[in-house]
Amino acid sequence: MRQSKYFLKTSKTTPADDVSVNAKLLEQGGFVQKALAGVYSYLPLGWRVLKKIEAIVREEMDAAGGQEVFMPSLHPKANWEATGRWQGLDVLFKVKSQHGNEYALGPTHEEIVTPMAIPVINSYKDLPLAVYQIQTKFRDEPRAKSGLLRGREFRMKDLYSFHASSEDLEKYYNEVAIPAYEKIFQRLGLNALFTEASGGTFSKFSHEYQVEIESGEDVIYICEKCGMAKNKEVFEDGAECTKCGKTSWREAKASEVGNIFMLQEKYSKPFNLQFTDSDGSKKTVIMGCYGIGTSRLMGVIVEKFHDDKGIIWPAAVAPFKVHLISLKGGEETAENLYQDLLNSGVEVLYDDRDLSAGSKFADADLIGLPYRVVVSAKTVAQESVELKERAGQESQLVKINELADKLKN
Ligand code: ATP
Ligand code: MG
Repeated sequence: MRQSKYFLKTSKTTPADDVSVNAKLLEQGGFVQKALAGVYSYLPLGWRVLKKIEAIVREEMDAAGGQEVFMPSLHPKANWEATGRWQGLDVLFKVKSQHGNEYALGPTHEEIVTPMAIPVINSYKDLPLAVYQIQTKFRDEPRAKSGLLRGREFRMKDLYSFHASSEDLEKYYNEVAIPAYEKIFQRLGLNALFTEASGGTFSKFSHEYQVEIESGEDVIYICEKCGMAKNKEVFEDGAECTKCGKTSWREAKASEVGNIFMLQEKYSKPFNLQFTDSDGSKKTVIMGCYGIGTSRLMGVIVEKFHDDKGIIWPAAVAPFKVHLISLKGGEETAENLYQDLLNSGVEVLYDDRDLSAGSKFADADLIGLPYRVVVSAKTVAQESVELKERAGQESQLVKINELADKLKN
């Protein structure tokens, strides 16, 4: 992509009303633009990042046997009354239509997915099943701050599993859902701590995945021995670690990037979602739900990977791999290199603008692509370009005809 033609302008001024690092760097870098508190537009650069995060989540959900669906954002009021959450969920956005009807804007989808499964699940032979979506959610959060960490409109992957028994749910939870989650966070380069939390409906705990960051809204206690964590809400002094039995904890601030629940019959009961078991008896379907905040993840990644000059994207989610910068006397070579890199399938942002070296370097550091390639009169004289990793300090000269191969690997 040619930067001169890209829908992108970086900015030197920081957003006045938000002090979080992710809001500051993502807005200044031209990734997102705030429409109102907690509501953002994703500009081309930011949308590429979000799509990469969501592609990783999608791949792992598919690999775990999840089937992708797409449910509505506008929900019938009756479904939310059936579960008691029309009144019970404080962050529910309620919409009144001009015809006098009321609707909810989906903050989560148990109220849609459960009745949706009624015509599909009849017999024990239909179970287990799991469907998921990646979608925009709405929550009337009282304090939408911290950039992408807490939105009123945000992105989430939510998977729902259906089982014939609690044993089958537990097996799925431990053997399918948890390994898939660990794989996702590992691919994103994040150390997401498996954390016990309250909120289990019939089980003792639900589980969260928490990433330790200074700007996180949650307080967790991390076992100094094995790294398992407990949310402060459920933490008791002197508690033993469920995993290793030790009692030495370190307090930390963290952001919840995922949350998994054994719902059991909580939603299948009110919607009367039943199946016929092998002995002919009617039973209530057992459910689990599994969320990942994909837009919050984008914010958390920025909180984790940056320095005083800008973002340092992990390669797996960087909007482009290479920032190609042409300086005086390097224009023609840069044009040729740009074509070479495109032909080699390397994702490249090409700074072909007529600007000073200083402002181009500042933009490259702010935007934070993994590799910076500079072509100038000086490097061309040596038939080379200057290659530097965003995460490193040193740059090296690389022969022009070797660059594409080097960057491909
Ligand atoms: P929190 O405790 O942070 O309010 P939650 O427990 O209400 O979140 P869930 O309903 O379990 O969240 O949603 C699944 C995931 O969606 C969360 O783990 C989080 O990553 C993300 N998420 C929840 N609320 C928001 C929000 N307002 N903005 C961005 N992401 C969110
Ligand atoms: Mg939570």
